[in-house]
Amino acid sequence: MSEEKSLNFIEEIIEQDLASGKYSSIHTRFPPEPNGYLHIGHAKSICLNFGLANKYGGKVNLRFDDTNPTTEDTEYVQSIKADVQWLGFNWTSELYTSDYFEQLYEFAVSLINKGLAYVDDSTSEVIATQKGTPTQPGIRNEFSNRTVAENLDLFIAMRAGKYKDGEKVLRAKVDMNSPNMHMRDPIIYRIKHAHHHRSGDAWCIYPMYDFAHGQSDAIEQITHSICTLEFIPHRELYNWFIQQLNIFPSHQYEFARLNMTYTVMSKRKLLQLVQDNCVTAWDDPRMPTISAMRRRGYPAAAIREFCDKIGIAKRENLIDIGLLEFCVRENLNKTAQRRMVVFDPLKVVITNYEAAEEILLSENNPEDEHGGSREVPFSRALYIERDDFMEVAPKKYFRLAPGQMVRLKSAYIIQCNEVIKDAEGNVTEVHCTYIPESRSGNDTSGIHVKGTLHWVSIAHAVIAEVRMYDRLFTVENVAEAEGDFKSYINPQSLQVIEKVYAEPALKNTTFEDRHQFIRKGYFCLDAVSSPDKLVFNRTVTLKDTWAKEVKKV
Ligand code: ATP
Ligand code: MG
Repeated sequence: MSEEKSLNFIEEIIEQDLASGKYSSIHTRFPPEPNGYLHIGHAKSICLNFGLANKYGGKVNLRFDDTNPTTEDTEYVQSIKADVQWLGFNWTSELYTSDYFEQLYEFAVSLINKGLAYVDDSTSEVIATQKGTPTQPGIRNEFSNRTVAENLDLFIAMRAGKYKDGEKVLRAKVDMNSPNMHMRDPIIYRIKHAHHHRSGDAWCIYPMYDFAHGQSDAIEQITHSICTLEFIPHRELYNWFIQQLNIFPSHQYEFARLNMTYTVMSKRKLLQLVQDNCVTAWDDPRMPTISAMRRRGYPAAAIREFCDKIGIAKRENLIDIGLLEFCVRENLNKTAQRRMVVFDPLKVVITNYEAAEEILLSENNPEDEHGGSREVPFSRALYIERDDFMEVAPKKYFRLAPGQMVRLKSAYIIQCNEVIKDAEGNVTEVHCTYIPESRSGNDTSGIHVKGTLHWVSIAHAVIAEVRMYDRLFTVENVAEAEGDFKSYINPQSLQVIEKVYAEPALKNTTFEDRHQFIRKGYFCLDAVSSPDKLVFNRTVTLKDTWAKEVKKV
């Protein structure tokens, strides 16, 4: 019997709404503001909104919430579309709040006509003081007594560009005594003489988030408008506008945003990292953005799996970044092709190997029976990892040491006979003999060794650069750390090894390929890689190295 996953609270609401006939089908939306690249927190919202629409056979809109002309850009629009698609989702419609500017303006006019909105000439400071405090009611000023005709004239003049930024605002006339500060005659339109990335210079007044979001939901007939917990206090106003304007009754539901250890999850902070050159770009592989994760080699399926695992809650918490890495590792373990790459080479000469070379076969992925195998050339001169050899080895050292035997992965057992050093006493190469009957897959030698080493044939090796990434920050809860968050950047978050020696199969690797460099980690080509200069990113380590450190403490 298959185990049925319990429903999250939003699925419960949806199933009730469908069962009661409140809706015959559901309609959700993902509403990013195009003022930055999407991060892993957005992935949670995407998986939720698109996932629900897919699960219940409904519709889902991608709506760009583009009401802030000064911070938004088409570059961000393009990146958001690419990221959502890469995550594996398709939207029913691509829409823009800016396309509703005329309609939203009409909504504002209709509020004015009902005596429910007025033009206020006060400065933002005065408006803020007159709002009162959560324990003290606000006060209405003289501007709230303007007549409908006066307000209409002024609002039309605002639109026509008669006033400068900040000279006037349009406010909804709600309730200055409400315990909910958002209800105290909120500003719904402000003057901003700024070029908009889509509407150009058509407008110099722009609606505030609260006046745009719910109405956009209603225009699109969104049934379940899902947002994060900080919007709970906005819900009353969301409903008030829908009621006063008598438009489609969309409903807002809130879930806990994703917070993750050792990183930041706010576009504003991510933009700072880019602008201050703390990272190279929005898609620097250390960033928590979707584009960075794609570049770093995270499979989209692993991100979806992660979002599924963390679930949907009503209370905020901090998710261990190790869980995301676990999902990536699990996925790659099943799909990544195994390859041998030596990072810090030590030359090994097989003194009794007479052939010029031979071609061995090695499995691409022992976890995948259809993974096939590849050819790996073996020859007399090889590289192994320098730290896989010790001249004076302790007991239980199962790697290479004088007199000791090891297996070379997918090849032969070798024994170390001689250590060659330079004038300073540094080991420059080791001389070994191989056991011809010990060839992997056809081993009749009867010899058992405990250590297996990766290696590459020097004559066939391909040179590459590898970039190793670590946590971007040194503290677990960056958002709550004192002072400037940038002071917690991990100076070791990027380590570049300019020259590693890879087996020749890696010469033809593509950007889509995922590899496990045996005993090293999971790797993929970086965006800057070219046939002349291969550059690999370490996607994730083989094991959770941080979990061990935590246990040690
Ligand atoms: P940021 O604070 O990073 O700028 P935002 O909420 O301003 O994020 P939007 O572009 O407005 O970003 O967000 C689009 C949608 O994604 C919203 O519905 C928002 O609630 C959701 N979202 C944003 N951040 C997270 C997060 N960390 N976890 C879950 N959902 C998120
Ligand atoms: Mg926002």
